[in-house]
Amino acid sequence: MRADVCVVGGGVTGCSAALELAERGYSVVLLEAGEIGHGASGRSGGQILPGLGTDMSTVEKALGRETARDIWRLSREAVALTAERVDRHAIPCDLQWGYLHAAVKGRHVRELAEYRNRMARDYDYHELEMLEGEVLRERVVTDAYPAALHESAAGHLHPLNYTLGLASAARDAGVSIHQHSSAVAIERGQPACVQTTTGRVTADFVVLGTNAYQAGLVPELSGRVMRAANYMIATAPLNESQAARVLPHNDALSDANFVLDYYRLSGDRRLIYGGEVSYDGREPRGIQARMDAKIARLFPVLEGIPIEYRWGGDVAITLNRAPDFGRLGGNLYYAQGYSGHGMALAGLAGRLMAEAIAGQAERFDAFAGMPHRHFPGGSLLRTPLLVLATTFYKLRDRL
Ligand SMILES: Cc1cc2nc3c(=O)[nH]c(=O)nc-3n(C[C@H](O)[C@H](O)[C@H](O)COP(=O)(O)OP(=O)(O)OC[C@H]3O[C@@H](n4cnc5c(N)ncnc54)[C@H](O)[C@@H]3O)c2cc1C
Repeated sequence: MRADVCVVGGGVTGCSAALELAERGYSVVLLEAGEIGHGASGRSGGQILPGLGTDMSTVEKALGRETARDIWRLSREAVALTAERVDRHAIPCDLQWGYLHAAVKGRHVRELAEYRNRMARDYDYHELEMLEGEVLRERVVTDAYPAALHESAAGHLHPLNYTLGLASAARDAGVSIHQHSSAVAIERGQPACVQTTTGRVTADFVVLGTNAYQAGLVPELSGRVMRAANYMIATAPLNESQAARVLPHNDALSDANFVLDYYRLSGDRRLIYGGEVSYDGREPRGIQARMDAKIARLFPVLEGIPIEYRWGGDVAITLNRAPDFGRLGGNLYYAQGYSGHGMALAGLAGRLMAEAIAGQAERFDAFAGMPHRHFPGGSLLRTPLLVLATTFYKLRDRL
């Protein structure tokens, strides 16, 4: 096939880029190795958040306060863009607003208060409110958290339905979507040529939205991100009275630990609970029993509730936990490494890559300017070193 742009990857990054490009009049072919949403986008916790997978201070240190403020504003645009698309394309994905960053210990309460003050002072961001005691229990009915920051400008949605909705909007805009079409090689050049096992797409530009799921397709990019698996469960649907004794305002929540737990209610009132991490792709042993115990400890009203589904998915993390955007050879664009914080940002990444291809690269370049280092240890020691670092932070979470 011949196209202006070949997009590789049918998650939020790829579908968003394809949609934006088609709306700008480009002919677009999208190749997805599995089915749309097969990667992180369809398996995600579905939390829609401004900001990055790292604190804004990391961006300030690398690029200065003014660029960090630009990037913060763009991350807020990512959230607004998600809502705008859900609305414009009537995507049935149960989008809800309201989010709690919950402290698990005294140290977290101080850190969250400091974060709220810093975001108000340096980023003019006033959507964070500290809740404690009964006011907090009105939003999450447990004694587990001494305090939490409530964020009204963040929320949650059904991630697979959202991704499918984006793909369907892209198809309506003229994108030619090919599922079960893995890109196996890219011949660089002007134009470039993307090969699948049975065909070829010749295109002036290539957009890579493969994130943790690309296995060596572009060798320069391996080592810049590491693959880490994260795990989710879904309980049986709660009845109304149980839901009211868990998250009465239907907020999403994540705790403030380094290896964090997060949850929300789905549209059909299941508790969708995520946490744990593994680096070798194998599900950690005893995960279901641990999740059961955590849920019963947080919400005794749910003790014994059946867990009906369990799944894992891969996130791509960078060394500094900021996303990695860039271009290679002038016509291959990529956005990856959202570090578990990509549900909203990946949508924006698609828009910024489309802008850059159309010749307006300033906003894409704000992100692409972020310096990224390879994970230390080479291909053999990378994973053991990462496991060691995470074990250290897990132990710290317990203090
Ligand atoms: C369990 C879990 C929970 C998460 N929770 C949250 C959350 O609550 N909030 C949040 O903000 N983020 C969360 N994330 C992260 C978020 O889901 C991701 O950052 C985001 O979905 C990344 O989207 P993407 O399109 O870049 O990648 P993906 O959705 O991973 O898409 C990549 C796609 O590329 C395809 N692909 C790969 N190689 C090829 C190839 N060679 N040819 C063709 N296709 C290819 C894959 O099949 C895949 O479909 C979570 C992730 C996981 C796994």
